[in-house]
Amino acid sequence: MSDPGRLLALQRAAAAAPPDLRQRRKAIGRLIALLHESGDRLHAAISADFGNRAYPETVLAELLPTLAAARHAHRHLASWMRPRRRQVALPFRPGRAWVMRQPLGCVGIVSPWNYPLFLSVGPLVDALAAGNRVLLKPSELTPHFADLLARLLAERFDPAEVAVVQGGPEVARAFCALPFDHLLFTGSTGVGRAVMQAAAANLTPVTLELGGKSPAIVAPDADIVRTAHSLMVGKLFNAGQTCVAPDYVLVPEDRLHRFAQALLVEAARLYPRVTDNPDYSCIISDRHSARLREAVAAAAAAGATVLRHPDHADEAGAADRSGRLVPTLLLSPPPDCALMTEEIFGPVLPVLAYRSLDAAIAFVAARPRPLALYCYTDDRRVERAVLARTMSGGATVNGTILHCAQPDLPFGGVGASGMGAYHGEAGFQRFSHTRSVYRPGRFSGFTTMTPPHGVMTRRLLPLMLGRRPGALPLDPAKGSPLETAL
Ligand code: NAD
Repeated sequence: MSDPGRLLALQRAAAAAPPDLRQRRKAIGRLIALLHESGDRLHAAISADFGNRAYPETVLAELLPTLAAARHAHRHLASWMRPRRRQVALPFRPGRAWVMRQPLGCVGIVSPWNYPLFLSVGPLVDALAAGNRVLLKPSELTPHFADLLARLLAERFDPAEVAVVQGGPEVARAFCALPFDHLLFTGSTGVGRAVMQAAAANLTPVTLELGGKSPAIVAPDADIVRTAHSLMVGKLFNAGQTCVAPDYVLVPEDRLHRFAQALLVEAARLYPRVTDNPDYSCIISDRHSARLREAVAAAAAAGATVLRHPDHADEAGAADRSGRLVPTLLLSPPPDCALMTEEIFGPVLPVLAYRSLDAAIAFVAARPRPLALYCYTDDRRVERAVLARTMSGGATVNGTILHCAQPDLPFGGVGASGMGAYHGEAGFQRFSHTRSVYRPGRFSGFTTMTPPHGVMTRRLLPLMLGRRPGALPLDPAKGSPLETAL
């Protein structure tokens, strides 16, 4: 069965019996086994979709973090599921209050192509940990991966538990119009808007994991070579096709040229060759390659200086034909060109000069809130100022990307980069309903104040208002004591 509406109906019927701890841990265990047994096949499928995806990148950014998420949930699930006691307010004592986490029911997950495994099975772990049924819609740009994942999940899960729906934007639109109990979408900001509109018709709550332009601020005290190395590692990973890749970098103006040279040297050290280098990933499609080349040409025509390492510049034509793009810097592109208004999502890095740290912070703060922010400094006052006066989904200091790999840190965007966070316990909570429960003792103060009001009410109401006993007369002619009091 592949009709998403019928699959949802099947899952909805099954959701009437929520899984207990043992069943949830078994489901997560099956995902762990899937990742162990089929890691190489999953890599091969992703690489076929990209043209070339560097094997270490698939292991480091897909298999390992997904396995870590599954193991973390497996280990902590019992404590996450435990009801938590809450305080009972004085007038309601004796009594007991607590919150319990319940599965929301049926969750939809729509994922993108850039890390197809981590961004589909990652949220699947959290949704299963929270006891939900899940329908997954992977990207149409990674068809080999989507097909393999569908088969691997079908071998281990009943479609009433987990199922994969495949297809392009038409299928995705219909999918997002289904009345899920929660919808997690990872993708571009523009499509995120359409997803939220579709979900609103069903009052389906959404988690939107979107993109944006994640800045890197290099403080005046930062070590040039170390910073350039770290930035290029983060920028060129997966050829820049990472939602939290540094999108542009702000550098003190007196260090602009030295810093740009250091970036080029590091790019060539990491990837001495581009064209046939198995460590360097391809751009996902010809359309995206053309988009990036056109954006660089437009910025150059508008006055930006284009820089490439001499070894890479020689390779530009051959690299294009191999589906790769040579690492490219743009010095001081104008603020209205596509490279400075749209998310880049490729191995192209604008480098901008700033006069003062205040100006750099103001530049970032004046733009839509990004998914990530990077700050390079060993000065804690600078670090505090940058973190306090800017906002982003997450941040790494003196590095890039790695805040996303921490299973105990919530991951999500803010403003234009998304809403809601998951990973670890935050993911468990995201896919759970937090239900508040109160059970009064047999003789709690509040339950004794029922009509007809008498001496007990006269004694207790002033106490509740913090007045001395008897200060509030019980005079039926002036209305009920509650009305008089409130
Ligand atoms: P995309 O928005 O084009 O597609 C994402 C998914 O949405 C795909 O499965 C696609 O089939 C589906 N889709 C397409 N049209 C739709 C519609 N009208 N309604 C509902 N669904 C629709 O994004 P992409 O090109 O696959 O991925 C790149 C974007 O994703 C970048 O902006 C990147 O920053 C962002 N991203 C964000 C995160 C994050 O965790 N915040 C992670 C990875 C990528």
